[in-house]
Formats: sequence, C-alpha cells, structure tokens
Amino acid sequence: MSLGRLFVVSAPSGAGKTTLLKRVMSSLVKMKFSVSHTTRAAREGEVDGIDYHFVSQETFKQMIIESMFLEHADVHGNLYGTSLASIVGQLEDGFDVVLDIDVQGAAILRAKTDVEAAFVFIAPPSLLELERRLRGRGTENEEKIKIRLMNAITELESSSEYDYVIVNSDVEEATHLLESIILAERAKLHRLPSGDPIGKVL
Ligand code: 5GP
Repeated sequence: MSLGRLFVVSAPSGAGKTTLLKRVMSSLVKMKFSVSHTTRAAREGEVDGIDYHFVSQETFKQMIIESMFLEHADVHGNLYGTSLASIVGQLEDGFDVVLDIDVQGAAILRAKTDVEAAFVFIAPPSLLELERRLRGRGTENEEKIKIRLMNAITELESSSEYDYVIVNSDVEEATHLLESIILAERAKLHRLPSGDPIGKVL
C-alpha cells in the first residue's frame, strides 16, 4: 500500500476553514484529520481527543523536550502542535491526512526537506467580512477578536507561499474547490483507486 499524502490547510480565524474541512472530510474517502495538541481551553461543544488534545502548558513543554512534535507554534497566545503520533500511523495506513495549522506551522513544514505536503490557504472574501464572521460566532471576547484580526493581516500576506488559495465567499463553491484540489493531488501521484502507484503494476 502506498503512503498517504499530507494536506496542510491554513486560514485566518473566521475564514470558514472548519466548516469547509468538515464538509470535505465527510465527502471524500481515505481522509483523516490530524488532531493537534493545544494549551487553549476547550470551547463549548469541543471534545478532548476529537477537536484537540487539550493539555497543560507543562505537558506541552515536556512534549517539546521529548521531540514529540512535527511542528508547534504560539498562535494567538496559546501553544498548538502536531504530534508525530497523530499522523504517522494514518499515513502508513494509506490515508491522506489534513493538518489544520497556522501559517507559522506551515512555514516550519515547508522548510523541512523530509516532509512532502500540498499547502492550501483559505482566505475570507474581505477583512470586513472576516470581522463580521468572528463577531457572529461569539466564541471570543473583544480583546481576542482584535488579536485575531491583527493576526489575519499578517496571515493573508503569507498566502502567496501556498500551492493553492481558495477565497471562501460561497461555501458550496469553496468546498468543491478544496475537494478538487485533493483529488487532483491524488491523481498527480498516479495512483490506482487501490492507492497503489500505477508504476508498481506496469
Ligand atoms: P482555534 O483556537 O481557533 O481552534 O485555532 C487557532 C489557530 O491555531 C488556527 O489558525 C489553527 O489552524 C491553528 N492550529 C491548530 N492546530 C495547530 C497545530 O497543531 N499547529 C499549528 N502551528 N497551528 C495550529
């Protein structure tokens, strides 16, 4: 069986990435989502081990010392990281794995010569619309909304570093585009439906 492919997906907070990813994960087969570790508190409705592994600063720092992360970063004042354990087994089982990580984490992975991934950036139609969505979801207080909006400006500047940019003005269209990107990346590897590379059987 061939190895799965890594998809790194980044977006400013409020760009609609979570909704898009949920839709694509349920419509495409052979996809897994990498569950990150974070020191941020769980939001209402979030489940430990499904949305994130919620850990203390102490545990997170110990994991850094023990080199358990493929990448980690301080995002909006909390620590977030992708553990090797969260992706290696899935890739080996032939699943394509989606990493929902910020622009710093994506830059770390892009710089690694031993990591192969497709990088996708999801942008909001405008900063005004982003602000409207952030306020609308009501999960952050005013101070946190301001931090996220300030960070969004820097994040949008990094979008040119990505292989693909999706402007999420219409959720149906954006979902379709993300599905198409994933399918095209699979075809790029010349795989058979079984997951084996075509070259293996020729
Ligand atoms: P939220 O707190 O809204 O769930 O996520 C905030 C930001 O952290 C998002 O941009 C998300 O992509 C990013 N993030 C989530 N997990 C990771 C991770 O493992 N590594 C990095 N670098 N960023 C992450």
